[in-house]
Amino acid sequence: MVQVLETLAQRSEWSVSQSEELYQVSRWGDPYFFINSKGHVAMRTGGGSSSSIDIVAVVEEARRRGIEFPLLIRFQDIIRAQIDRLNQAFETAIEETGYESPYQGVYPIKVNQLHGVVEEVLSSGQKYGMGLECGSKAELIAALPYLQDDQMLLICNGVKDHTTISLMIAAQRLGMNVIPVVEKQKEFADLKSLAWEEGFLPVLGARVRLTTQVSSRWEDCTGPASKFGLSASELLNLVKELEISGFLDRLHLLHCHLGSQIPDIHTLKQAIREVTQVYVSLIKKGVGLRYLDVGGGLGVNYGEDMAGTKAGLDYSMQEYANAIVMTIKEVCDVHNVRTPILITESGRAVTAHHSVLISPILGRRGQDELSHEMALPNDAHEAVRKLFQLVMQSTERQNVDEVLEIFHEAREKHDETHTLFTQGHLSLEERAMADQAFWSICQSLLVKLQDASLHPQPPELQKLENLLTDQLLCDFSVFQSMLDHWAIGQPFPAMPIDRLNERPSRRGILVDLTCDSDGRINRYVSSCPNKSFLPIHPLEPGASTFIGFFLMGAYEDTMGGAHNLFGKVSEVHIYAAQEKKDHFWIDKIIPGTTVQEMLSQVQYLPKDLHRRMSELVRAKIEAGTVRPNVGMGILGQYMECLQQSTYCNTGTLVRNLDL
Ligand SMILES: *Cc1c(COP(=O)(O)O)cnc(C)c1O
Repeated sequence: MVQVLETLAQRSEWSVSQSEELYQVSRWGDPYFFINSKGHVAMRTGGGSSSSIDIVAVVEEARRRGIEFPLLIRFQDIIRAQIDRLNQAFETAIEETGYESPYQGVYPIKVNQLHGVVEEVLSSGQKYGMGLECGSKAELIAALPYLQDDQMLLICNGVKDHTTISLMIAAQRLGMNVIPVVEKQKEFADLKSLAWEEGFLPVLGARVRLTTQVSSRWEDCTGPASKFGLSASELLNLVKELEISGFLDRLHLLHCHLGSQIPDIHTLKQAIREVTQVYVSLIKKGVGLRYLDVGGGLGVNYGEDMAGTKAGLDYSMQEYANAIVMTIKEVCDVHNVRTPILITESGRAVTAHHSVLISPILGRRGQDELSHEMALPNDAHEAVRKLFQLVMQSTERQNVDEVLEIFHEAREKHDETHTLFTQGHLSLEERAMADQAFWSICQSLLVKLQDASLHPQPPELQKLENLLTDQLLCDFSVFQSMLDHWAIGQPFPAMPIDRLNERPSRRGILVDLTCDSDGRINRYVSSCPNKSFLPIHPLEPGASTFIGFFLMGAYEDTMGGAHNLFGKVSEVHIYAAQEKKDHFWIDKIIPGTTVQEMLSQVQYLPKDLHRRMSELVRAKIEAGTVRPNVGMGILGQYMECLQQSTYCNTGTLVRNLDL
């Protein structure tokens, strides 16, 4: 008896640091996110150890102001801090190696084109001379007016038509530092003919296709099958043409991009060595290169087990900078060539950490267990009877082998009850009872196996965990807010934002609002060996529970789709402010997309909808089935819905009802 009480006490004891370990917060959150002493997730603001922003305080302030959920919180200070870290890493590397030229970062706006993000990048990057990179016509047109001074770079990748090349040349004529990067020979032909028409020789860049293969989710960015860049022989042809047409001195930039999330420093060095060899060879051919742009690829740790996996990475920002700077310098020194101005295009690393999606849990669906008052009817079927016996045994037996045996037997009997029901030998009531008995057995066996802490874990433990997960309905759409999870299985750290000083005794699977079975999170970041569920607290009736999805700031903001017509979520832009009550202020509130806005994207005009709806209502009024004031009320109600957000209303948020 004494022993049993002790294990119970151990089970309820729980500390914030256990939550940090369980949800691997430092692995993906450093140096920004941690769990504070209240058991809330908080964001360090960099002003000493005590200054931080409690995410729960932000959520409460948003609710006080009537902002609808789901809510995307943008910590603008994180963008600034990441830009500082990146530039300092390259400064340090340059100082330590004696690299002779400066570093100049550019921000690839495809990673997050939102105006508030780009503005923050530009204002934070100004003192480092940070520029932009664009990859399409619309991105070019968005970026051009933000080139505040003529030194600032705008590097133009992607497929270029006549209009875009012409606009790039026009920008150069204005004195702007806009560099079209030639990826295909046809692009140079276009550029040349435009230049001759206008009597203006523009500056340009060339993108090479490297043979070094990077193994990541984006491995097709390099190698012979890549969509991008010039092969060695195409590059030589280009150089020949440059020479003939008097452009040899106008090719200022050599570009390569290894793909996002470069997994290891070894491959990075190899690729940098390759591109620097190309650089040196071109310099020796008299090409007027000044810049070497090694593209993006600086990885972000999303919290998965790292080394050796496609999702993992094995280096820090400083190691990344050191590897690039040192490798270029080594190769240049060997050939006695001056080191180029070094450009990188890090977007993911700059923006990923700054945004957090907060989604309320709307309800739970778990496996119903037997309630205490449930008694077995006298005429119950033999199979159901047997399951009830196993319920008793499952609470009594302690020995692991016996526990496993009960589980196997219960599964067999449970399957049998389903067959019996299908064949008409069992009533619906008996079937429900059999299910509940089975779940009760599983629950008590799971606790026993967990308490036994076996190494290695028996496979039955994982089976039981998977059987006993709750489905938690969250107010969001995977397709709108984290498309990469659905598309390429990218994990994003997700966790409750409060109660982190309590033991999360249940297991949950987060599902979204869409009518699509893919609308769910399949893989979780945690220290559990089984990543297919999120350890989570039992819901408290009447209290709201919020899940935070972290590291949402790169790519997810504009890639999302309108599946089921769920639109953009509300946003708040937060800045740290030591003097404010909760150490932050809200700079901007951007409401989510309304139903009307989503509908007009698929060509339903509000006027048409109103006309149709009022015709329907009028017909009912004229037929006398509805009184005029009731009919008009319903019409008004319908029209009001058009102005609502596409997500569940905050008014209904605190339900926590079982589904
Ligand atoms: C997408 C892209 C980037 C961004 O790379 P990240 O590693 O994701 O920051 C940089 N350069 C080019 C050419 C790109 O296409």
